Amino acid sequence: MIAKVIVDVQSKSVDYNFDYLVPERLESVIQVGMRVIVPFGPRTIQGYVMELTDHPDENLDLSKLKELKEIQDIRPELTPELILLSEWYGKYFVTKRISMLEVMLPAALKAKYTKVFHLKDLNAIPESLVSKFDSAGNYEYKVAQKNGDLKALSDLLREGVVEEQTLLSQSVGKKTQRAVRIADETAIDSVLAELESKEKQYDLYAYLSDERHRDVSLKELQEMDFSISSINTLTRKGLIEKYDAVIERDPFATRVFEQEKNQTLTEDQQRAYDAICESIEERQQRTFLLHGVTGSGKTEVYLQTIERVLNHDRQAMMLVPEIALTPQMVLRFKKRFGDEVAVLHSGLSKGERYDEWQKIRDGRARVSVGARSSVFAPFKELGMIIIDEEHESSYKQEDYPRYHARDIAEWRSQYHQCPLVLGSATPCLESYARADKGVYQLLSLPNRVNDQSMPHIDIVDMREELSSGNRSMFSNQLREAIETRLANKEQIVLFLNRRGYASFMLCRDCGHVPQCPNCDISLTYHKSTDQLKCHYCGYQETPPALCPNCESEHIRQVGTGTQRVEELLQREFEDANIIRMDVDTTSRKGAHEKLLNDFGEGKGDILLGTQMIAKGLDFPNITLVGVLNADTMLNLPDFRSSERTYQLLTQVAGRAGRHEKEGQVIIQTYNPEHYAIKDVQKNDYLAFYRQEMEYRKMGKYPPYFFLINFTISHQEMKKVLEASKHIHQILLQHLSDKALVLGPSPAALTRINNEYRFQILIKYKSEPDLYQALQYLDDYYHEQYMKEKLALKIDIAPQMMM
Ligand code: ADP
Ligand code: ZN
Ligand code: ZN
Repeated sequence: MIAKVIVDVQSKSVDYNFDYLVPERLESVIQVGMRVIVPFGPRTIQGYVMELTDHPDENLDLSKLKELKEIQDIRPELTPELILLSEWYGKYFVTKRISMLEVMLPAALKAKYTKVFHLKDLNAIPESLVSKFDSAGNYEYKVAQKNGDLKALSDLLREGVVEEQTLLSQSVGKKTQRAVRIADETAIDSVLAELESKEKQYDLYAYLSDERHRDVSLKELQEMDFSISSINTLTRKGLIEKYDAVIERDPFATRVFEQEKNQTLTEDQQRAYDAICESIEERQQRTFLLHGVTGSGKTEVYLQTIERVLNHDRQAMMLVPEIALTPQMVLRFKKRFGDEVAVLHSGLSKGERYDEWQKIRDGRARVSVGARSSVFAPFKELGMIIIDEEHESSYKQEDYPRYHARDIAEWRSQYHQCPLVLGSATPCLESYARADKGVYQLLSLPNRVNDQSMPHIDIVDMREELSSGNRSMFSNQLREAIETRLANKEQIVLFLNRRGYASFMLCRDCGHVPQCPNCDISLTYHKSTDQLKCHYCGYQETPPALCPNCESEHIRQVGTGTQRVEELLQREFEDANIIRMDVDTTSRKGAHEKLLNDFGEGKGDILLGTQMIAKGLDFPNITLVGVLNADTMLNLPDFRSSERTYQLLTQVAGRAGRHEKEGQVIIQTYNPEHYAIKDVQKNDYLAFYRQEMEYRKMGKYPPYFFLINFTISHQEMKKVLEASKHIHQILLQHLSDKALVLGPSPAALTRINNEYRFQILIKYKSEPDLYQALQYLDDYYHEQYMKEKLALKIDIAPQMMM
């Protein structure tokens, strides 16, 4: 038997299948998709089995083949589908296959771990094997391989007598935390009676009694404002006791979910549901664009179509932007589908993610909810893929290997012949244009459920505020609206666009702004650490006391960081409780959830935040949403800046008045007559779409043209220029005269980390020879990079133009 193996070497020159002989002892256990250890030149490295065959190619000299050494997996981590996908992707998106394979697998597999066979049924194990399991019931995989027990164990695995387990070094020795419980559960009633007069102790004891089905940590009790002294008093009396509780890796493991029933669908929802179900029933690939305003019931349609998929014994995958993967969202899925849901997001530890991944791989979870990378979830029979908020730019991975979740999802839905549902209130232009042309099937939910009205949107012209003498960042209208809400005890959300709210240092005397020594960009001031930082290369320094240019003392922090806005806000509204949400306040695990919960429980009057508050926020008491600076995004040098502005403002506006109380939105802007802002006010996506399409057509941008962005970088400007010319030449040779080649020109950020950067942009409609040129360039510059660090980045369908 011969195994075709992709080796784990990050180099283009060896990025193809190598043949290895499979030793006889491994023939019955090896499977496609397993990771193996193979000799490679003088080294021994890891590889992935892409194919197994008993019929070697004719011209293959078997006597020259080496044997593979070991198998690393008990079950294959990669499915045949994912292997095919990596091949297709590598070819059309000029990406190394090994990089694709790696991005598909959970990060835990790159950490230190041990795979073991875990004993489930001692009686069914042959005598000869029993002694090989340790006291925890584990038999290490590597040792089994050495002892020649692999075959026997694989059989037992199939019979279900043993199971596969992965012990991650980080989770070996389970984590525990101090917890508190009632000492004698049979005495609860009498103890409560006894404590009647001691209010604090009574409350604490009653709480522990109510929650006795789970572990209540000391930390939780403190967060609930139970005092240490009551805990200690009850402990001393012997009524409660402290112990070490094991922390579950599944963050939802101990929660009991109330089952939630399906809503009766509205007419529009029903139409969408029927169309999607038809594609499910007929097992026919179709891509749907579900266009519905926020609150129109898209999620309800997802949930009910998923149910249909499960009834057919298939699986469903739902992608959401990382930022929308809020506990509220997850809870909704857990309430419908319980333990069948696997949740994959970056807040989980590697171990937790791997647990979720294994649930999917082993068929224990049939629904996944996850961010971008969960598009690779190892489902075997997909019945539907959903991408919610499909316009979000976070679906594109910007680091190598660059991929867009939508492309991967389309391929997978073709493979499984199942529907792909793209949902959004503000679809990206490319998707809507496809629906317009009938390539996608358009499903519309034009109204909110229960005919709730959309919030009223006011636009405030900040130029007029300025000319009438108001120099603060709050317009008079916004200030009054905030005051009214505070007086009525209603809640307010204030949104700041992240960009434009960085703070930096400026010398008042000479205008000097400290710059990064490695990049062409100013350093950002971070108040929490009192440091100046570069966001591109990580450089940091202590802020100077004197201006390095003119030695003036008047060098200080300017620009309105979110902290600064918070201070200003507090000064204006002294009695208001402000909750600030930005990268600084949410960096700790769970902080995001806690801040949102606090706000939901009414612990804050004003929620002040950046992009991250734009989504998933759904509280009945929010009646005012203010946007402080609608323009910062509009002015970016990117052809999508109007589209992004429209999407973001619509999203933010959707946070107001989602329940009985009517909502108001106030948008402050210096460009009140810009169509992106006016169409948000009118809540008219189609008007925006038509206008924007005009501009795209004139500018030869997507969806009329496809784009590829080439970035060339090196420490020496001369090398960059030479390479740029060469690439330009090659492209001209391979492209028809219908395509446009723009540049080379300096990138918006001309120097990052001491490397100069130039760009070439091509625009094209259909170019049969293009892939050949891309492959050639990629190979050629791979060599150049190895030789002299001259780098070429090929970004196909770029999302960011900087
Ligand atoms: P979207 O995902 O488009 O923002 P949701 O599915 O979250 O919309 O629906 C908004 C709200 O309306 C939710 O609270 C949901 O439970 C409720 N809802 C959705 N569909 C119905 C329905 N057919 N009948 C009653 N309530 C519904
Ligand atoms: Zn100065
Ligand atoms: Zn830098």
